[in-house]
Amino acid sequence: MNNPDILVIGGGIAGLSAAAALSKHARVMVLEAEEQIGYHSSGRSATMLHYALGDRLVRALTLASRPFFDDPPGGFTDVPVGHAMPVLIHGREDEREALDQLEADLSAFAQLERLDATGVHDLCPLLKDDATHGIADRRGIRLDPHALLQGNLRQLRSRDGELHTGARVAAIEYAGGSWTVTTEKGERYSAAILINAAGSWADELARLAGVRPIGLQPKRRTIITFDAPPGTDLERLPFAKTVGDELYFAPESGRLFASPMDEVPSEPTDAQPDEYEVALAAYRMAERTTVEVRQIHSKWAGLRTFTPDGHPAVDFAIDAPGFFWLAGQGGFGLQTSPAMAAIVESLIVGTPWPVPDVEPSALLADRFLA
Ligand SMILES: Cc1cc2nc3c(=O)[nH]c(=O)nc-3n(C[C@H](O)[C@H](O)[C@H](O)COP(=O)(O)OP(=O)(O)OC[C@H]3O[C@@H](n4cnc5c(N)ncnc54)[C@H](O)[C@@H]3O)c2cc1C
Repeated sequence: MNNPDILVIGGGIAGLSAAAALSKHARVMVLEAEEQIGYHSSGRSATMLHYALGDRLVRALTLASRPFFDDPPGGFTDVPVGHAMPVLIHGREDEREALDQLEADLSAFAQLERLDATGVHDLCPLLKDDATHGIADRRGIRLDPHALLQGNLRQLRSRDGELHTGARVAAIEYAGGSWTVTTEKGERYSAAILINAAGSWADELARLAGVRPIGLQPKRRTIITFDAPPGTDLERLPFAKTVGDELYFAPESGRLFASPMDEVPSEPTDAQPDEYEVALAAYRMAERTTVEVRQIHSKWAGLRTFTPDGHPAVDFAIDAPGFFWLAGQGGFGLQTSPAMAAIVESLIVGTPWPVPDVEPSALLADRFLA
């Protein structure tokens, strides 16, 4: 099909989950620039579902997504989309107030346990003695992005939708009620609705289409992996995060991973780890834990892309008929993807609004256009 009803640009979690939802109602095609899906942000994340990310709106989107992860639809995938991993937010004595505030903010979304120093170290023996306060959510989920991407793709294909990889969109025109995109290889596809799910490139894609950009800012984040101290019970370790945005670490494929939670503004690009942030991750592990990072096993970086107010933009553009924004998923795009896909479905097809706690107006793309 060269003329689907809906064209989705971007084969990350945003584009594929929206495409899978829409394929129930329409002929949908996804165009992905890279040879594989999830090559950029969706394949580089920390893959955690937790509520310490973002604010009330992000938490509401996460809460609304949770039933999908707990019980994915039949036939979605043959493998689990995640596994249980407790979340521990910890602090020193001087961070107690910040922890109190976070506990109050999160209590509407998760069942939290307040922990004293003993509780903190029972849950995460790798923390230094000065980690004296904590809150734990025993129902965190470590998501499997590969299973999520493949599950959405399987749903899309089972409903006759298509994915074209190696299809970088290079030109976009609007004429006669239809968007026509031309890829770098010269293939042309047209549809009445074009969904911009190009992640860090979403503003660039809008410019290609002659649509006003909304001021997206990609920010680089770095992750390193390294060996845990001998004898560490990796199975029992939580995802452990400082109450301020300084450090998180968790078990990862028989080792540990850690991030210094860097947010370095970047152009849209194939992000690479910078030596400073790599060293910072190891430094903060030494500062907060008893783990000495002797040798880095692997490292990577990815982009988290934010709108000016940190909330995603999910809506038709006000200045371009049929041009739909699905951008600005920041650091929460995996854990909110089921709710976001249902919102796209609602706005395009008219299914019931899926997240009563979030007003559609909060997601309007045109809120950024003066
Ligand atoms: C280090 C790190 C940790 C994170 N931790 C978490 C976490 O714990 N929990 C969580 O929920 N989220 C987390 N995130 C955020 C999450 O990964 C992102 O929000 C999410 O992956 C964004 O998905 P996306 O589909 O919008 O972007 P992407 O996955 O980047 O997909 C966009 C796609 O568009 C394609 N594209 C761009 N331009 C074109 C074009 N012209 N033509 C065709 N295709 C194009 C790109 O190739 C890309 O594949 C983290 C991210 C990072 C980097």
